[in-house]
Amino acid sequence: MTNSDRDLELIEENFRDIALLESIASTLGWDERTGLPDEAGEYRAHQITLLSGLIHDRRTSPQLGERLARLADSSVTTDPNSNQSVTIRCLQKDFLRHSKLSKSLVEAISNATVRGEQAWAVARPKNDFASFLPFLENILALRKEEAAMLQVGNQTLYDALMDQYEEGATVAIIGPVLNNLRQQLVPLVQRCAEAKNRPDGATLSRSFDIDQQRKLSRWIASKIGYQFSQGRLDETDHPFCTSLGPYDHRILTRYDANHFNSGFFGTLHEAGHAMYEQGLPKDAFGMPLGTAVSLGIHESQSRLWENMIGRSHAFWSWCFSEVQKYFPGTLDDVSGDTFFRDINRVEPSLIRVDADEVTYNLHILIRFELEQALLSGDLQATNLPEAWREKYTKYLGVAPTNDHDGVLQDVHWSAGLIGYFPTYALGNIYAAQLMDAAREQIEIVGNEGLDVQIRRGEFSPLLEWLRTNVHRYGRQMNPRALVEKATSKAFSAAPLVKYLSEKIEHVYG
Ligand SMILES: [Zn+2]
Repeated sequence: MTNSDRDLELIEENFRDIALLESIASTLGWDERTGLPDEAGEYRAHQITLLSGLIHDRRTSPQLGERLARLADSSVTTDPNSNQSVTIRCLQKDFLRHSKLSKSLVEAISNATVRGEQAWAVARPKNDFASFLPFLENILALRKEEAAMLQVGNQTLYDALMDQYEEGATVAIIGPVLNNLRQQLVPLVQRCAEAKNRPDGATLSRSFDIDQQRKLSRWIASKIGYQFSQGRLDETDHPFCTSLGPYDHRILTRYDANHFNSGFFGTLHEAGHAMYEQGLPKDAFGMPLGTAVSLGIHESQSRLWENMIGRSHAFWSWCFSEVQKYFPGTLDDVSGDTFFRDINRVEPSLIRVDADEVTYNLHILIRFELEQALLSGDLQATNLPEAWREKYTKYLGVAPTNDHDGVLQDVHWSAGLIGYFPTYALGNIYAAQLMDAAREQIEIVGNEGLDVQIRRGEFSPLLEWLRTNVHRYGRQMNPRALVEKATSKAFSAAPLVKYLSEKIEHVYG
């Protein structure tokens, strides 16, 4: 056995252990969000903190750094595209990032964000931005400090933070694309507002039996390809998806007895995330080749199933009669077309998580611009509510009268997640690009395209396409390169704009 083989073996062993520890932490996290007894929170925090410490030690051990450096200089990495080279490159990048940060800063950030989230949870219902402000200022200062330590090449501070969520994304690259998207979306929203024949969404606000919603959610998740033999569907306040092992990818949604959307579309969204995880190479679980490449790509998978499939006309021409059966009497007087129009209603609103497909991206753009201004110092946190209102008025034509529905609405900043929001818009952009390519490439006997399959409730050709072109690669290339390879087109928001324009044309006439 050569020294390189030995190094590789030890590194692999280390990361198998890290994967085990992380999956244990995820299991505890899942349990915490699915009905932890009130008084069990503190002990659970100790359990998770202990695991985080063990994981951190294994990720930053000096021996690991030495082994990675030796391998990076060895013949193992001569071919930059080999699996071993990719693995070592990713692990080395992660290692350098983890070890650049001082332990005291990591602890300070962890502490500031735990306290920040608690302060936010108290401040939001009381509309009390002032009480949250010092926590936010502290978080911003710490994350700025972190960004300065992480910065490489000509990255800005903001780029350094964004890179953790979306490798290779910089303001110079994505800024113009997102700006261009905003310029095209604002008139589209205007167009919907001025249309004569506007859907009012009334058919969605009826009474939908929750037990039946549960059954419907299970049925649709399994229909689109989510494997229940490697997962389960539960309920929580803030829906999410989590992987507890290579064969355990769980989803959680939330049901509203008086509204159709949250249960159904929440399930499609989270199932999209989980199907990506289910499609990653299982034998590389916990290693770069078995890990999701970025938040943007993750979100492209959830948005693709939730919106581009789940809100499409083809989908509802198949699914509506099925949905009617789940709620006897509730939708008998409604036509499939009316329902389709209602679920695609475009309406500027204050709350991001309730936004439609078109305005959603504007909510993200606003946060993207504000975050950059906060990091560069152009905007002081104390002026955030004002800046928030200005941008909402300018881009969406609505402005919050209180901070609960304004700057305090998202948990992200209180949790230290800065540079994270743009990945939501990137997810939409990638999803539209991937859908175009899938539509072009999927053709079965008799020239039947993707839409014909969807109209029959057949989703496996699309899922197969995603498995082959996206899922199986793990972190083999950066997210933009992955999309460009899958679609043979340059990264661009044009497919998303085209998709949304066509949708509006169809719905608003
Ligand atoms: Zn998501």
